[in-house]
Amino acid sequence: MYLGVDYYPEQWGLELIDEDLKNIKELGCNIIRVADFAWDVFEPKENHYDFTFFDQVIEKCKEYDLKVMMCVPTATMPRWLNLKYPEIMAKDEFGHSQPFGGRRGYCYNSDIYLRKALSLTKAMAKHYKDEKQIVVWQLDNEIGHEGSDMCYCENCHEKFISYLKGKYGNIKELNKRWGTSFWTSTYDRFEDIQLPKKAYTAQNPSLRLEWERFRNITINNFLVSMYQTLKTVIPNSTVLHDLEGGTMDKHFDPFELSRKFDDIAYNNYPVWGGLIEPLKPYEVALALDMARGFRKDKYWITEQIMGAQGHDVIGCAIKPNQGSSWALQAFGRGCKGMLFFRYRGFNKGAEQYCFGLLESDNKKKRKYYEVQRLFKYIKENKDFFNNPIKAKAAIVFDYDSASCFKIQRQSDSFNYVEEMGKLYKQLWMRDICTDIIINSDDLNKYELVIIPYMIMMKEGFINKLKEYVTNGGKVILTARSSWKDQDNNFILNEDLPLYLTDLTGVIVDEQESLLANTYRDCVDLENNIYKGYIFKEMLKITSAKELVKWHNCPFGDYSAITVNKYGKGKCYYLASSFEEKLVEKLFDEITGQKIIKKENEENIDLGNNVTLFIDHENFKWELKHVRN
Ligand SMILES: [Zn+2]
Repeated sequence: MYLGVDYYPEQWGLELIDEDLKNIKELGCNIIRVADFAWDVFEPKENHYDFTFFDQVIEKCKEYDLKVMMCVPTATMPRWLNLKYPEIMAKDEFGHSQPFGGRRGYCYNSDIYLRKALSLTKAMAKHYKDEKQIVVWQLDNEIGHEGSDMCYCENCHEKFISYLKGKYGNIKELNKRWGTSFWTSTYDRFEDIQLPKKAYTAQNPSLRLEWERFRNITINNFLVSMYQTLKTVIPNSTVLHDLEGGTMDKHFDPFELSRKFDDIAYNNYPVWGGLIEPLKPYEVALALDMARGFRKDKYWITEQIMGAQGHDVIGCAIKPNQGSSWALQAFGRGCKGMLFFRYRGFNKGAEQYCFGLLESDNKKKRKYYEVQRLFKYIKENKDFFNNPIKAKAAIVFDYDSASCFKIQRQSDSFNYVEEMGKLYKQLWMRDICTDIIINSDDLNKYELVIIPYMIMMKEGFINKLKEYVTNGGKVILTARSSWKDQDNNFILNEDLPLYLTDLTGVIVDEQESLLANTYRDCVDLENNIYKGYIFKEMLKITSAKELVKWHNCPFGDYSAITVNKYGKGKCYYLASSFEEKLVEKLFDEITGQKIIKKENEENIDLGNNVTLFIDHENFKWELKHVRN
């Protein structure tokens, strides 16, 4: 098991390195991560590579018996690169280029930038290919972060046109599938298609979905080219990328990307920037379970928070033992190697408010000793944390559907990840271990599968779902399930939910979207009244049983929550985003388990009759040995 810190010797020079590495070793580390923003150190002038500095760092690591995670630092560019090739910079919708000096700023579709990134990757790989101290490589850093996954430059336009040509073959096919006869937008040539920039009115939803798919391909192509270049030189290397928080909201699919690497890392910041209070324990847990889902495997955390973080505005401080609670939560949920961000915060530059274990006074204080105690605890109990994780439930993420809601939210209150979180919370409150998966993953190992807001379902997935329920699986579908075809359009002559009316036993007969602070009443079998928010679908029953119906509905007598027996299993349909009381009651029935703990308590099953209990209010934890 690797435990370590992120260390930036290029910010300090080598004068401090002996003292630093000695302290890092005493902290309980066996690895450091270096160089993730050090392109100008490796290539101070174009095509003049210089490895002297990091060679010395690696030699020092040997002295102190510390392994190295080496980063290929393409997330920030040297000034010479930006000066010589200004066309590499990303452009916003109005044609403004990103200025130099921030993080990223480059266009992933720039052939020049890719060529320079690959040359650097190759040079580093060749130089370090026999270096045994390097045990893992990281490529780039937090791809697509801070809006950098979007670019409207000429490179992107040109490659988008090629993508459309490749996909549709001829323009008549595209016109037909996109319905361009509406608003007289029929195209004569692929070259005439513009990027879907903001206009007075909405752009064609098919065009916008293809643009989202293209953005995903763009990011995949960039990183996979770097991966292949490194693997060609060092085939036996372990190569990962480190993903930032909020990946389910980005313009790329983190699951697809992760599965192209040997390993994946997640950077865990439960509080950042302007947050008044940290994410709730279940929200942090959801992100960690998602990280485990990226590659259906355990994962690294390459940046674990311990000091307050922010660029211009700083998030709330991390209280004593709070950072340790988050770190242990991560180990319980599939982290297999952890690096704290960072050994010492830098006293200069844009990230001077991203505090490390040590601060500018360079003294070992509370945070340092807290991590030292934590690492000792993790090492003493590593056998428990190394156990495989077996989830009973799964929630399915879908990039295309998430994209559809970016394009057409339908309700200003709708947030795909938040709505997923509300359902996840019900499982978390019952300590039911949950995997976050994608539609190509196996469903059969789960007792319960939740499919939130999958507005676009692939035919293969629909068949797989029906087979799963036929064989005894339980599934929960939500409003807006299976509404659209693969071009983001409705299908003529088909009832909603598309191709699922047999599984659900209902037809969506009418629907409305509910804007902020608007709700509709519904009533359960015991005559209790509840509220439904965001969407109201009016369900006409064909074979399902009604659990909740819409109350005083002016459209007629319609169901709001139903359950349908299908083969040996059951399919629940939730036609709205219901208030928590009702969802809780429903999950009592579905899971056969009532909530018995507080909102800040977490019990994580580590296998072998051991449970990790974490109290996120008082920041205490213990391993409980449960007897069968
Ligand atoms: Zn671009």
